Amino acid sequence: MPENKKDYKKYLVTSALPYANGPLHFGHLTGVYIPADIYTRHRRLQGKNIIHISGSDEHGVAIMLAAEKQGMDYRPYVDQWHSNHKELFKKFDIDFDFFGRTSADYHAEEVVKWFKTLHDKKYIGVKSEKQQYCKKDQKYLPDRYVEGTCYLCGHSPARGDECPNCGEWLDAIKLKNPVCKICGGSDITIEEVEHYYLLLTKFEKKFRDWFATKKKSWRTLVTGFVDGLLEKEIIDRAISRNLDWGIDVPLAEAKGKKLYVWFDAPIGYVSNTKEYLKQSGKKEDYIKDWWKADDVEISHFIGKDNIIFHAYIWPCMSLGTEFINQPTEIPANQFLNLQGKQFSKSSGWYVDAEAALAQFGADSLRFYLCSIIPEGGDASFTWEGFASSYEEFGNKVGNFIHRTLSFFLKYWPEGLDANAFKDLEKRPEFETLKTGFKNIPNALDHFQFTKAQADLILFSQGANEFFHHSEPWKQIKTSKDDAAKTIALSIFYIACLNALLKPFTPTLAEKLSEYFKGYLTEKDFASLYQGDFTVLTKAFQNGYKAPLEPKVLLPRLDPKALDPWKEALLQKK
Ligand SMILES: [Zn+2]
Ligand SMILES: [Zn+2]
Repeated sequence: MPENKKDYKKYLVTSALPYANGPLHFGHLTGVYIPADIYTRHRRLQGKNIIHISGSDEHGVAIMLAAEKQGMDYRPYVDQWHSNHKELFKKFDIDFDFFGRTSADYHAEEVVKWFKTLHDKKYIGVKSEKQQYCKKDQKYLPDRYVEGTCYLCGHSPARGDECPNCGEWLDAIKLKNPVCKICGGSDITIEEVEHYYLLLTKFEKKFRDWFATKKKSWRTLVTGFVDGLLEKEIIDRAISRNLDWGIDVPLAEAKGKKLYVWFDAPIGYVSNTKEYLKQSGKKEDYIKDWWKADDVEISHFIGKDNIIFHAYIWPCMSLGTEFINQPTEIPANQFLNLQGKQFSKSSGWYVDAEAALAQFGADSLRFYLCSIIPEGGDASFTWEGFASSYEEFGNKVGNFIHRTLSFFLKYWPEGLDANAFKDLEKRPEFETLKTGFKNIPNALDHFQFTKAQADLILFSQGANEFFHHSEPWKQIKTSKDDAAKTIALSIFYIACLNALLKPFTPTLAEKLSEYFKGYLTEKDFASLYQGDFTVLTKAFQNGYKAPLEPKVLLPRLDPKALDPWKEALLQKK
């Protein structure tokens, strides 16, 4: 077991800001949003003061190009994706305390504060660079606005930043036969322009000293990546571009220049926290009470493509401004593939998350996706995997609950009396229950999501085995009292499962808690989750009568239901 973590007073969870430029797929949900949601629900059950912040990332050239292609203005274009993402999160039971957006005024205000401070402290400097200029449009062209022939492999057209054929990163200036993507013309000149740079070279010592304190506890995926960066030469990074969409560089001499999207996006965590506190009428200060408070754990949930920004550049930006504390944890994940190949919307290699949800429901998908969170290496979504996860969930969790409640209602329609629950806490099986239970919150404390869920299955398997070995169907014939005790302890197990399922499958947990109406309150479930098992003995000290007939919590999955989904992928192969 990993060493115990410091107990923080407050927890600040951020999920990578989804880019408002296309649908989210299972890779995004599994790598970032599902673990962040599980962690938040877990800490909340522990009674911790926690907030989960995210929002749309709405600037950048990729958004501009996509909007232009659809003949849309930037604003309605990002509006559409902002709503789409919010809606999808809601359907998957992924909750945020605040889901803001980087195109909002409150965000620009915060970004300006960061830029000016870094600029005043000489962490931002001006450098001159060469850039293409379209004479017809009278515009400077960012690399993605230029296409031409790849100077490495001769492929045409190659994008200004990357060649689709040889896969190399390109320098747009060197492209042969460059064409402007706005007007299609080729009246392009190369001009000398000045741009603002974040002077990462000035942070080297500060950053290394801070990073050294994280090396032991962070995932090796993150520390290995940063180590790799530090071995190479540190380079300053441009933070301004000549664009029409984005946040203005807040200096009189920088007319027409916007901040690069990667500079403004992470500040979104901070600006969204500020806006959250304001809108919810809380008296707290976003900096003093959250971002720069030493009793707050700051965790950034991200995918591995975002490590460079969150584990390196963002900490440099905050070391520079000294506005906020550095991240405490960065539980970054590897990639989730689809049957071994990267999800790709453009080539049709993806699963429509919304349609899948409409058919299979949030619980079964969350359960499967949590089991394949790519914590240690890349993982793969497969429909076969989904089917077997569904079956396991049904067999080990659903069946146990259904079996116990059916047996109970058959023989005790009038309810179990107080006697059945008496002294159950003195039985050795009760100790086993307690030990098994604690493994789950303990693993979640350490961001071990797949382990926590596997432990939950083990816990339920233990409940099944207890039921099976006790043979209540035989006990009922010899001693109805013994059978009653078996069922009473099984009801303890179901109550525990109810508490444990809350972070993983919130909808199912809510349905299950119908059976405990009048016995266990939300507060009781939280106490139980925190390890106070006397809640159980107290709840049932006068006996238990089920408030409703056992309903099927997890309907069986018809294997044929997966055929069209598998078929759709086969055609893409
Ligand atoms: Zn090439
Ligand atoms: Zn042009």
